[in-house]
Amino acid sequence: MENFAIATLLFMIMLPGKSPYAAVGGASPAENIRNGNFAYESNDKSKIPPGKWGFIWSHMSYNTRTAFVDTFRKDGQFFAPDKRMNAEQWLDVFRAYRRGIDHMLERDPMAMDIFPTRLKKRECKRCHNMFIPDPNRYSPFCPDCERKDVWKSYPCSNPRCNNTITLYNRNRARYLNKRLPEYCNACWQSTPCRSCGYMIAKWMYDEQDGLCRRCYRHQHGKRKKAAPIKSTHQTHMAAQPVRQSARLSNMHAPSATKATIQPKSVNSSPRNRISKNESNNTNIVLVFVILILIFIMLAPIYFAVSWYLSLRS
Ligand SMILES: [Zn+2]
Ligand SMILES: [Zn+2]
Ligand SMILES: [Zn+2]
Repeated sequence: MENFAIATLLFMIMLPGKSPYAAVGGASPAENIRNGNFAYESNDKSKIPPGKWGFIWSHMSYNTRTAFVDTFRKDGQFFAPDKRMNAEQWLDVFRAYRRGIDHMLERDPMAMDIFPTRLKKRECKRCHNMFIPDPNRYSPFCPDCERKDVWKSYPCSNPRCNNTITLYNRNRARYLNKRLPEYCNACWQSTPCRSCGYMIAKWMYDEQDGLCRRCYRHQHGKRKKAAPIKSTHQTHMAAQPVRQSARLSNMHAPSATKATIQPKSVNSSPRNRISKNESNNTNIVLVFVILILIFIMLAPIYFAVSWYLSLRS
């Protein structure tokens, strides 16, 4: 317990005031502690929380980051309570960090800032110059080398999106025998339909007036002599992913996971609420009928008993 407190305290000193298990992805800090759900990764390739916390984290020495990850993440070698690093081991880590300061400052003058305003500089794998990485996208190459590596570049198909889709020579194998992506990664972010709250990809939101497929058909397709309105959200759900998956097959993996549609809003859809009310009503009627039946069955017994009692008296 004490060693856990030491690790937490050190983390909160390095990332001023930030708790290692602060709420991430909807889970509470307590849940995160239990599940070893730590949002930071030690290697540069992986995702880290966006914004200033991610910047601070990226500037820490690699061994310090690794020590934190191993302590706070479920699969870390110091995660188990009896394996946690003690104060002496933490001192070693931070002494090494201090010895590395000059070298780190040489590579990046922002290395010792308490609140750095960008990610730590990275060495280009091709020309070996230092460059400032793009926080939204990992690249092993500096922007100059990146430009030389461009294979194709074209605008996103969403008319309301100004992004460009860029494909690189190094990833060409990924698109072998596949259709090239039509939409940029941002256009695959899930966005709730403005009418029913159903999660749809952003390109669909933009192209269909903020509506999911079903709501769009409902509002725009009425003159097409009533497309059978029996469609519950069940068919609605089934219909949508067809088009999605057709598009998905063109996309590379990371954006594909982003675009997975969450049907969680289905339960709260107005249609479902109505049917729930209806079933409540039928329940009330049923209870009423049963009560009347019981009364009808009990009445003769009551009369028989009272007749018997009157006979005896
Ligand atoms: Zn370069
Ligand atoms: Zn786009
Ligand atoms: Zn909708």
